[in-house]
Order: sequence, then structure tokens, then C-alpha cells
Amino acid sequence: MQPLFIGSHLAADFLNTAFEPHGEHIEVIGDGKQLLEWLQAAGVMDVEQAARFARKLGAKGLDAAATEVRKQREWARAWLTRWRSAPGRDYAAEIEHLNDLLENLSVRHEVARTKEGLERVARFQIESSDELLAVLASAIGDLVTQEDPTLLKSCAGDGCTLWFLDRTKAHRRMFCSAAGCGNRAKVAAFRERQREQ
Ligand SMILES: [Zn+2]
Repeated sequence: MQPLFIGSHLAADFLNTAFEPHGEHIEVIGDGKQLLEWLQAAGVMDVEQAARFARKLGAKGLDAAATEVRKQREWARAWLTRWRSAPGRDYAAEIEHLNDLLENLSVRHEVARTKEGLERVARFQIESSDELLAVLASAIGDLVTQEDPTLLKSCAGDGCTLWFLDRTKAHRRMFCSAAGCGNRAKVAAFRERQREQ
């Protein structure tokens, strides 16, 4: 499985874990195993964190986490769709929901040796489904507090539903990929690999 990382922001990449090229629904995080793969590919977890997370939750727990993550993703999609077209609204209920998720954010501080010497590093602790949801909520929180809502765009490609944050200088990015919505090739490859599974 090759998830699509064209969003230029973790929150957009998260939304892009479900998309509909030409009307066909593709789910990237359909179960716990796929969720773990995506989290690592997205850089949310490293191999060690993923192994610990999988051990703590077990196969059933991972599948349940994937279900919950998909649910929150669709909640986020609905809100962000409204937010980018009407950023000035109050959104009290949405902010409250986001803050409920963020309550479970758990950060671990440690001293680590890096190339520059000893450094204090902060890492998200992700050992439960709630802690994972909080990390994903944190990406959405970053998006709505730090980015310009008009730059959160959907690809202009025919039938393409992918999202991205336009970080180009001129703010003229229109497509998910430079090759004129060139994701068709990636999607075809994704389907091919899914068929093999
Ligand atoms: Zn596209």
C-alpha cells in the first residue's frame, strides 16, 4: 500500500487517507494493520512506537482504533470543508470537540544525543487509541490556528478529491500533483498492490 502524501500538511494527508478517484472509494486505513502502516509512512510513529502501540492494543484494538480514526477523519473533513469557505464563523461546537480530543495529548520529554550534542526532545506518547486521536487532532489544531483557510484546497483535477495546503509562493497550486493530477498512476499502482494482498 502506498498512501498519497501530497497534502503538504499532516492534516491534509490525513484527510487523503480516503479519496475517490473517478467515483471509486479508496480507503487507505481500512483496518488496524493499514492504520499502522499509514502512521509510519506519515511519520506519526517510528518503527519502535508502532511496535509498542500494536503490542498494547492487540489486533482487535488496532482495528477498533482504525474505525475510530476514520470516524474522526470524516468529522474533520466536514468541519474543514466549512472552515475553509467560511473561516470567520464561531465553530464553538467543533472547537469543543477538538479540545476534547486534545485532552488526551501526551508528550514525553527526554534528553537525547544528536549530532549537535545533547538535546532535549519532546515526543508524542502514543500508547492508546485516545492518545493517537489526540495526535491527529493536534495536526488539525495546527492547521486551523497556523494556516490560511483559503490555501486549504481540493485538487482541480477531474474527479479528483484530494486535499492539499498550497504552500507555493504565488498560491497558485491547483493540482494534487504536478503531472496534471498525475495521481492516476499512483492509484493504479495502489489498486494493483491491493489486488495482490
Ligand atoms: Zn488530483
